[in-house]
Amino acid sequence: MSFKPPSDTKKPKNVKVSQLCELCHSRKALIKRPKNMQKICKLCFFHVFETEIHNTIVSNSLFAVGEKVAVGASGGKDSTVLAYVLKLLNERYHYGIDIVLLSIDEGIVGYRDDSLATVKRNKEQYQLPLEIVSYRELYDWTMDEIVACAGVRNSCTYCGVFRRQALDRGAAKLGIKHVVTGHNADDMAETVLMNILRGDVARLEKSTSIITQSAGSPVKRSKPFKFSYQKEIVLYAHYKKLDYFSTECTYAPEAFRGTARELMKNLEAVRPSCIIDIIQSGEMLRLKPKKVKKAPPAQAADAVEVRSDGSVLLNRHSGFIDGNRCERCGYLSSNKICKACMLLEGLQQNRAKILLDTDSSIAGAAKLTRTLEKLTF
Ligand code: SF4
Ligand SMILES: [Zn+2]
Ligand SMILES: [Zn+2]
Repeated sequence: MSFKPPSDTKKPKNVKVSQLCELCHSRKALIKRPKNMQKICKLCFFHVFETEIHNTIVSNSLFAVGEKVAVGASGGKDSTVLAYVLKLLNERYHYGIDIVLLSIDEGIVGYRDDSLATVKRNKEQYQLPLEIVSYRELYDWTMDEIVACAGVRNSCTYCGVFRRQALDRGAAKLGIKHVVTGHNADDMAETVLMNILRGDVARLEKSTSIITQSAGSPVKRSKPFKFSYQKEIVLYAHYKKLDYFSTECTYAPEAFRGTARELMKNLEAVRPSCIIDIIQSGEMLRLKPKKVKKAPPAQAADAVEVRSDGSVLLNRHSGFIDGNRCERCGYLSSNKICKACMLLEGLQQNRAKILLDTDSSIAGAAKLTRTLEKLTF
């Protein structure tokens, strides 16, 4: 699709030719585009940014007329810009979709409560309906309680498993089969790098898909920002004066993801196109078809190992059968018991242990023995 710069009746005065926008050649360039270093004006930046997202949506046939679509809204810059741009493009190009904001309340005081206040304002600003699903209501645990019980080290493992299920359940409640998320090009390139560095070949192939859907799941997910740079999303939010929440989660992201992010930033500083180049390289990777081995039926206990300290090890290679349902909660699961229920079981065991340890009826020698048992030399 060729680019037509937006017209503007206001012509700039006294602007040197070298300062003019490289796209419209009529307004003063104010922005150096992070994606390709082009010097452009504000209006042209809005236009290229929105048009690229529209092209991604159209070339991947993301939406169908009459479809109800939920935006996974966290109040952060990515999902706020996504809700704003999607509403704008839906009106501009007549996608004919029905947009709803869907938020997850993980129960993280000082982070999620404040960011949800932003989503509630976005609801009014963009005139979009909002549904909030909480971990408390679904699992009877908040992330703060989980971290208090299982430690901060595994917070993102618990949170990721619970969020995936919470989004599906929230979408099902609203009768929605499509959730769009604000994952951007930087996130995707970071994931590709992480999977390469870990040698996680199974995940590598899926990590660049714009649409993902588990077998048998009624809810598909898509990423309209697959090719949008994080820096451009921030610039767009800034110049459009969008209302978003910028504080990071209290629980640090996975240490290894942090390292991959740092590596990406260093690479981007030297060569901005490397973000898209990594995504494109990831898209070209194809796994050799695996020889099918007959595996014994999966045992739930093999799927998730809950260690004595409450930490978890999710095992993805334990006799996978797509489309099954969890015996406990009915959610789609490749094992008899889904990952969320296994994690909840580990948490309950740990909570029972903590309650026992802090029980005042256990005093004196028994308590001392327990304390000594915990010490390792
Ligand atoms: S950083 Fe981790 S704990 Fe915090 S919201 Fe994200 S996944 Fe959850
Ligand atoms: Zn311009
Ligand atoms: Zn379950």
